[in-house]
Amino acid sequence: MSDTKNIAVLGATGSIGSQAIDIIERAHGRYRATVLAAGRNVSALADAASRLRPRVAIIAEESLLPALKAALEPLGITCRAGAKALQEEAAADDVDTVLTATVGYSGLAPTISAIKAGKDIALANKETLVVAGELVRRLLSESPSKIYPVDSEHSAIYQCLRGERAESVSRLIITASGGPFRTWSRADMARATAADALKHPNWSMGAKITIDSATMLNKAFEIIEARWLFDMRPDQIDALVHPQSIVHSMVEFADGAIKAQLGVPDMRLPIAYALGETDRQDYGLPRLTLGQMSTLTFEEPDAEKFPCLGLARYALERGGNSACVINAANEIAVAAFLHREIGYFDIYDTICRTLDRVPFVAEPTYDDYVATNAEARRVAKELTK
Ligand code: NDP
Ligand code: MG
Repeated sequence: MSDTKNIAVLGATGSIGSQAIDIIERAHGRYRATVLAAGRNVSALADAASRLRPRVAIIAEESLLPALKAALEPLGITCRAGAKALQEEAAADDVDTVLTATVGYSGLAPTISAIKAGKDIALANKETLVVAGELVRRLLSESPSKIYPVDSEHSAIYQCLRGERAESVSRLIITASGGPFRTWSRADMARATAADALKHPNWSMGAKITIDSATMLNKAFEIIEARWLFDMRPDQIDALVHPQSIVHSMVEFADGAIKAQLGVPDMRLPIAYALGETDRQDYGLPRLTLGQMSTLTFEEPDAEKFPCLGLARYALERGGNSACVINAANEIAVAAFLHREIGYFDIYDTICRTLDRVPFVAEPTYDDYVATNAEARRVAKELTK
């Protein structure tokens, strides 16, 4: 038996996906990418596949299959297209771990399929737990699958929790950079453009999560993600602004002690930790030199400037399909903001007005989530027109 672990990289052409590929290449045979999947970027997918030689490459956009085949079939790589191919290959026999690094709602179905097939999950796609955290938790409890967080805050909390008893944890403190608008006035934020919002101070990420960071809905999503990953009560999870992004998150214990995980803001660290299932290796990544750092500061988030942050409490208290509605409305609103069709605060307004109009379902099934997502997108599209 070989020690090589087989990975399916879903979202291989994105920010997380390409950094995961960097780790796979640095790991010299420890990992093999058997499945690489992307949305529409055929040339980046073909580039990665011709280097990594997966068994199969998948493009979600079906009309692009001929282009993918032209690039990869001569290399003996099977090419597939569509959402169903993603679900099937996430459950394939030659996959041990599925790295979910697609963006938005598209992460849910392949993650569920992988859990049902007993695969381990390296979870970057936080929207999976935002949309259907309760369902995913139940499926995990019925499966041998384990979930390893890739999100830097959740990786930090995971590391702080190791070796501790669950009963001794009193609070999770999720740090937030505060995004590009931390020091802006509310009036200036109302006039902010997509270009302003895309200038994240510390992290280089895909466009959607960068806008979510600018509205701080990303932090609301991370509170929801933490609730389901670590089985915490909502009142045990707080967000704290830490503009340097060095302390990736903290855990407070019953005796008042606080543990933190520190590191440079480089997603390859949590990606490698998740793929390695907590095993630590030296992949030659940049290191933190604390002596060169003058200050680490912390401040409470400003609820007036970042109303989206409050949506975490709302969604967790109301439960049911409410976070699914928030996620869908946000995906539509963020796309509209990026296309200059709506303003910065319209993102929050669109989410609230969509919540008012989509019927509440207290105990959603998978099909209810699918229907809620479709209806919330329809309503949000109408509102952003
Ligand atoms: P990117 O936008 O950079 O990449 C998204 C990836 O998903 C691309 O490979 C894209 O393919 C692919 N994709 C898009 N739609 C589909 C679809 N329908 N089916 C299959 N693949 C699809 O995003 P990020 O890498 O920034 O983020 C990925 C996930 O990780 C998000 O959920 C985000 O919240 C989370 N995350 C990201 C962090 C970061 O630092 N970037 C940090 C923490 C979490 P293509 O480009 O070919 O269209
Ligand atoms: Mg994060």
